[in-house]
Amino acid sequence: MVTRLYTHPVYLEHLTPPGHPERPDRLRAIERVLDDEAFEALDRVEAPMGAEETVLYAHPQDYLDRVRAAIPEAGLTQIDGDTVASPKSWQAALTAIGAANAAVDDVFERRADNVFVASRPPGHHAEKSTAMGFCLFNNAAIAARYAQKKHGAERVAIVDWDVHHGNGTQDIFWDDPSVLYCSTHQMPLYPGTGAKSETGAGNIVNAPLAPRTGSDSFRDAFRSRILPSIDDFRPDLVIVSAGFDAHHRDPLAEINLDEDDFDWATGQLMEKATSHSAGRLVSLLEGGYDLQGLAFSVAAHVGRLMKG
Ligand SMILES: [Zn+2]
Repeated sequence: MVTRLYTHPVYLEHLTPPGHPERPDRLRAIERVLDDEAFEALDRVEAPMGAEETVLYAHPQDYLDRVRAAIPEAGLTQIDGDTVASPKSWQAALTAIGAANAAVDDVFERRADNVFVASRPPGHHAEKSTAMGFCLFNNAAIAARYAQKKHGAERVAIVDWDVHHGNGTQDIFWDDPSVLYCSTHQMPLYPGTGAKSETGAGNIVNAPLAPRTGSDSFRDAFRSRILPSIDDFRPDLVIVSAGFDAHHRDPLAEINLDEDDFDWATGQLMEKATSHSAGRLVSLLEGGYDLQGLAFSVAAHVGRLMKG
């Protein structure tokens, strides 16, 4: 197995105010844990900046222009109640997109079996025309459309195990049956969407989890709803919106997973990718706000990607 890792120093320069959970230290914690010799075989590549036109795969031009215009020359700009931009946020956001798209190239062109992208800002709350929830552009949605346009993928599955519902990804693919969107998330919780009854064009599979549940409810949701949906859909590519804030240590939610659950879920999705997608799997970092919970979970996830 070749597992590639993309990251970039500019991701540390997307700044948020003191006390903000989505902070550069998250990536420092990931870098530290992946420095261990257990991860020596990772194929580490510096993330490229993405082409601006690929943003338009998921967002309209006037939205792109609005985000660009909001980037401050100095200091911080509040884009919504909890979404912030700093002078380097544009470059960071475009480089998060660039890494996601490059990861798609890698798995289709067989430079890697699978890829993990450790980037900021995250993406799954960004709707077609609305930045929110720490997200500017929807990295997973752009990568899915990129796979369709550049590599002729007919069907792409996005599996989102971040503890928050990916309202943005759901919004972008609401009426697009060529992309399957599956999500486990705590409900009720921010952003309030993600009920089972939200099914889009039959391509949206929401599996909400009750607060204070854990491994059993998460694995049940995978076994009973998400994995069978992937089998029915037969994707050409599996993209993981990999947030690690369902970890029991996370301060933003009340789901009690531990790193073994992320290891297990990774293995399940790799099996589905092997069955339907020639193994092609691209994983993009979303949330995860307890530094130790995040680091241990990423280690379990990437360790599983490397082992096969
Ligand atoms: Zn989250």
